[in-house]
Amino acid sequence: MIKASKRAMSIEYAIRDVVLPARELEKQGIKIIKLNIGDPVKFDFQPPEHMKKAYCEAIMEGHNYYGDSEGDRELREAIVEREKKKNGVDITPEDVQVTAAVTEALQFIFGALIDGGEEILIPGPSYPPYVGLVKFYGGVPKAYRTIEEEGWQPDIDDMRKKITDKTKAIAVINPNNPTGALYEKKTLKEIIDLAGEYDLPIISDEIYDLMTYEGKHVSPGSLTKDVPVIVMNGLSKIYFATGWRLGYMYFVDPENKLAEVREAIGKLARIRICPNTPAQKAAIAGLRGPMDYLEEYMAKLKERRDYIYKRLSEMPGISTQKPQGAFYIFPKIEEGPWKSDKEFVLDVLHNAHVLFVHGSGFGEGGEMHFRSIFLPPVPVLEEAMDNLEKFMKERLG
Ligand code: PLP
Repeated sequence: MIKASKRAMSIEYAIRDVVLPARELEKQGIKIIKLNIGDPVKFDFQPPEHMKKAYCEAIMEGHNYYGDSEGDRELREAIVEREKKKNGVDITPEDVQVTAAVTEALQFIFGALIDGGEEILIPGPSYPPYVGLVKFYGGVPKAYRTIEEEGWQPDIDDMRKKITDKTKAIAVINPNNPTGALYEKKTLKEIIDLAGEYDLPIISDEIYDLMTYEGKHVSPGSLTKDVPVIVMNGLSKIYFATGWRLGYMYFVDPENKLAEVREAIGKLARIRICPNTPAQKAAIAGLRGPMDYLEEYMAKLKERRDYIYKRLSEMPGISTQKPQGAFYIFPKIEEGPWKSDKEFVLDVLHNAHVLFVHGSGFGEGGEMHFRSIFLPPVPVLEEAMDNLEKFMKERLG
């Protein structure tokens, strides 16, 4: 038998790992309500028409070649315009790298920062690839606490305690997956001050930036004076084009502290040739085009968020914070017979036929929680919540 590498074999992705037992039940003819994967396009959301049209036209007009490794110049200009408008950042197309979605940007960033043993501060709980990819590149993901009772805001004192001489960067995911937290401006300023004190760059995942309910997203890129910030965004969430696999990253680095890291990222970009060429034409149409579709989609999501929040708040044995952004809710299992959140999720799957993701799959801070999406229409959420409520009442006697 040929051995696979330990670093590949140790990768876990909780969101998709729970699909296997669900598939077994489906094979037996049991209908499962899947609230595990954060893909709006599996529900009643689609990329806007003008983006779909631009994608098709790009293919028909022959834009099917290898493009530049850093990405199409016109797209990078469109990104600069968008980011200046949204975040007021002073960047040029040279500061932008187009990627195969945020996931590839993460690979580039960790690939460029980690030799072996470096620590990356990540929120606890956190979107799983932050743990998986940091480890894959030989680094150590170190979770800083986020405070559930305060709507999952980062705990700056804990962040400070987690900094060592091996710390290489601080990652911020805002709005957050899995908690739905939207970070306060004051908190972001404190993170920037802390990063400045220790000469650390900030990695800012802004994939859900326009997907907020009550408040508005603030980017650390818009607040920094000297601390380098690497911002990531893409088409997957606010443009509802998950399957197109297109995103970008850019550097807000007034003192050019990231010069070598940028060079390394350029090398990683060249070795993988280029991002998807026709999808970049669609991205230009999206970034420069109307955003009115988002208003309609956000109204739908808000209705669904309000519904699931109300039902889970009233559910016996469960408590929850109200998500302020993205499309996830991260309730706490307050009481019941389960020894772990995974045991809870499997019990719910087998007996209530609803699929959630166990909180510990999101690393530290996720224990005895679970994550649900609220992307499906209210009648589907209603059926899922009815099943869960009946199940909870049975289990709690
Ligand atoms: N970052 C966060 C916080 C996410 O929740 C997700 C997907 O769920 C991604 C990145 C992945 O984004 P992309 O589709 O751009 O790779």
